[in-house]
Amino acid sequence: MRLYEYEAKGFFGEFGIPVPKARVVNDLEELGGISGELDYPVVVKAQVLTGGRGKAGGVKVVMDPAELLREGERILGLTIKGFPVRRLLIEDALDISAELYLGITLDRAAYKLTIIASREGGVEIERVAEQRPEAIHRLSVGINEPYYIHQGVTLAQKIGLAGRHLTGFAAITSHLLELYRRLDVKMAEINPLVITVEGGLIAADARLNSDDDSLFRQPRLEALAGGGRHEEGELTERERRARELGIPYLDLDGDIGMFPGGAGFGIMGNDFIHYFGGRPANFMDSGGGPTPERLANMLKLLDDNPQVKAIFGARFGGVSRCDDFARGVVKFLKEHGLSKPMALRFTGNMWREGVRIFTEEKEKNPELFEKIEFFGIETPIENVAKRAVELAREAAG
Ligand code: GDP
Ligand code: MN
Repeated sequence: MRLYEYEAKGFFGEFGIPVPKARVVNDLEELGGISGELDYPVVVKAQVLTGGRGKAGGVKVVMDPAELLREGERILGLTIKGFPVRRLLIEDALDISAELYLGITLDRAAYKLTIIASREGGVEIERVAEQRPEAIHRLSVGINEPYYIHQGVTLAQKIGLAGRHLTGFAAITSHLLELYRRLDVKMAEINPLVITVEGGLIAADARLNSDDDSLFRQPRLEALAGGGRHEEGELTERERRARELGIPYLDLDGDIGMFPGGAGFGIMGNDFIHYFGGRPANFMDSGGGPTPERLANMLKLLDDNPQVKAIFGARFGGVSRCDDFARGVVKFLKEHGLSKPMALRFTGNMWREGVRIFTEEKEKNPELFEKIEFFGIETPIENVAKRAVELAREAAG
């Protein structure tokens, strides 16, 4: 789970990391309410669960109340990388002399924490890593091993700091590490960590991603999670709908709707689609023994999605039987109709009964089945995935 900047900075403050004086407002009225009592210049910052707000016009230094309201209104009207801005952070503006980068993440291969520092902050660290890898320095610390200030000082020297910034930087690193461990964070980032004109070090931005598997022992983070959000941001409309229906579902950026049996089949299907050059529009799991109702809801999520050009359906009947599967599909066809071409295969437990249901319904209502290409055990699953990729290409023109 990713925290908003203002939430992350709240924790920064508690752990001794310097942050600018801040206020949060939810609308223009609240902004108007505080506009008279601020110490200008202040910076207005869009609160959305994504980076790159600066580039998108979501960060602006303003000089007086009139400009504050003007810019506040503009930023509240922005949608940044798909996330509408619903909240603003107003901070005392910094006089920036330099922008550094400081981050902590998990090195899964070494089973250690990696502290990452760079003189070149304020831009995406991935870009620095690609273009100027020599500008990035790392310090590895065992998950439960102590961190010594002299290690932080050495890291500070490597990124070219001097004088009192050496211990200042090492101390902030120590605080961030403490926060990282105590809050079960997966990724912590201060970008930029600003050196002000007066010579202080202060966190101008803050990113924290918590480890959701630890929420049970992080009541404060769990309370924040109540609003329903995941790794990269808030749930999409469809993800929210799926959640209400009790269907594990994730939007992806391709155009092939994935209508799988269980999660394993879903993952495998995803692999097949990629192998044949296609891109899934979603991941979804039917759960064990889904009712016809649930299956119909799954199909509806895909058929209603304008991004979906074709559907790949596959069920291996085990506990979840093929006849129930066929009934779910038929229910959907009768109640909603299918507007996208679908390559569909089922085999396994009760497949004969499933085929019988399909054949019988098709004789009665052939038009309902027009968009479906049906396959059984005689066609290997990869051929069906390949067919779905072709159908998506044909539909895309
Ligand atoms: P991001 O683009 O989403 O990462 O948002 P940041 O909070 O990192 O802000 C982007 C950029 O805005 C920073 O790299 C700074 O250059 C600038 N910025 C942020 N806060 C201030 C501030 O208080 N004063 C000034 N002058 N610039 C700021
Ligand atoms: Mn930033």
